[in-house]
Amino acid sequence: MNQQGGADINEETNPQLLSGEGSAEQFRTRVSIGTLVGVMTCLLFAGLLMLVSWLPDRQRASLAGSIDGSGADAGTGNAVGVGTSSSDDASGDNDRTVAGEMDPSTGVSAGRDSPDSGVDAKTEDSGNADLDAANDDAVAAKGTGTVDAEKPSPQFSFTVPPLEQLQPDPSQDDGARDAAAARSPGMFAGRDAEQRKKLAESDGGNAASESAVERGLKWLADHQDKDGHWSLHEFHTAGECNGRCSSPGHVSSDAAGTGFGLLPFLGAGYTHQSGKYKKTVKTGLDWLIADQTKEGTFRHCEGGALYAHGIASIALCEAWAMTKDPKLKQPAQRSIDYMIKAQHAGGGWRYQPGQAGDTSVTGWQVIALRSAQQGGLQVPKGVMTKVSAFLDSVQTDKKGSGYRYMPGGGGSDAMTAEGLLCRIYTSWNSKRPGLEAGVRYLLSHPPQSGGELYYWYYATQVLHHYGGEPWEEWNPVMRDLLIDSQSTEGHESGSWAPQGGHDGAGGRVYATSLSLLTLEVYYRHKRMF
Ligand SMILES: [Zn+2]
Repeated sequence: MNQQGGADINEETNPQLLSGEGSAEQFRTRVSIGTLVGVMTCLLFAGLLMLVSWLPDRQRASLAGSIDGSGADAGTGNAVGVGTSSSDDASGDNDRTVAGEMDPSTGVSAGRDSPDSGVDAKTEDSGNADLDAANDDAVAAKGTGTVDAEKPSPQFSFTVPPLEQLQPDPSQDDGARDAAAARSPGMFAGRDAEQRKKLAESDGGNAASESAVERGLKWLADHQDKDGHWSLHEFHTAGECNGRCSSPGHVSSDAAGTGFGLLPFLGAGYTHQSGKYKKTVKTGLDWLIADQTKEGTFRHCEGGALYAHGIASIALCEAWAMTKDPKLKQPAQRSIDYMIKAQHAGGGWRYQPGQAGDTSVTGWQVIALRSAQQGGLQVPKGVMTKVSAFLDSVQTDKKGSGYRYMPGGGGSDAMTAEGLLCRIYTSWNSKRPGLEAGVRYLLSHPPQSGGELYYWYYATQVLHHYGGEPWEEWNPVMRDLLIDSQSTEGHESGSWAPQGGHDGAGGRVYATSLSLLTLEVYYRHKRMF
């Protein structure tokens, strides 16, 4: 992982934008301008049609042809997944160009996103009827004809409520809101011991996968530093390891390490209040809270920066949502507040606050925000709408079945899986054409020995939410590959060695954490569909 300077911080320091007031004003302005432009252009277009109807047949055909030609432009030019991606860090981007493979049925699949696709997707994700109408008019006025194909057909209804609809009721006080959140464990409901067992059996886990989880958790607990943190690069000096375990990470980020250390315990239902790892989880959470700055981020993000911030924030938000321990609430909320202030105007996040986003770092923030909302924490309206706009900017085809690391780069397996999971958590349903095509793509790139854990972690979650035959096809391969690749010798027993892609940057703690989270998929997050 490397960093770039935050040269474009200014873009995100507009207080109006952060408070939502400015964006609401801009929103209204956009809507009224869009409506005005749409109405005027419709009138112009109607006049043009009337003119055409008065022309002799030959002239009419000629004029109609020129109109069609302008509409076809959007589907011709950018037919290749162009550019090279910035695979300079642990993003998982491996420079593979995937768009053309994913959607051979459309001539535009592999191109850079046209402005039209941005308008279209924003319309779909907004859920705002007025904006829809304004954009529809604007799109019709352009006469391109290519955007309509991307609109959801009327039969598609959102089975997953948009994140904004899950906002805490502002009329409730904190106590009432916490109580309401506690009554609705939602996405974490499967972690309860009884539910965990049931879901592991019903969703495709087995005794071997569950015992692999327990062995992995034991290894993680044995490699926690006595002060509560996990180190990515020095875990082999913690506890009684004495350097017996190989593959330390190349990145120094104790906040990321501690987030990665905690998440598999929480994912399997172990908290600081229940289960056999109470002390492990408690010291880890205490360390994170002590490491938090007054602004809400963590002192030891180091090379991971917002990457690490997102991972640590997920751990705090999950622990809060699962236990409602009052001492966790403010730290979790502050980590979210910091995250929201760090969001780029384009909707994504990168290593430093205010940088134009990348898909990899953005994905961790999206899960943190979703976890925060599950716990009834405050996430201002508009944050996830901006995320949708960012996803529009990194999708590799019109329907959004493939994703790249940053705008302009090539797509990759890992970014496609992460982008699709973000789409699921920001509002897409299982009937969405982009998701259906994306799932087909993931299935055509099944887990193979030596593959990239980062890709497996995200792809497995997407397939689990999607369910059905794709899940039946993916799961046994993924499950058994992880069971078979778990270390069984010496002090490394129970852990996983880093494999392909950028896994080496995070090292053995990272690889073990992602492997465990992947094997916990049956119960870690409730299915969205
Ligand atoms: Zn060891």
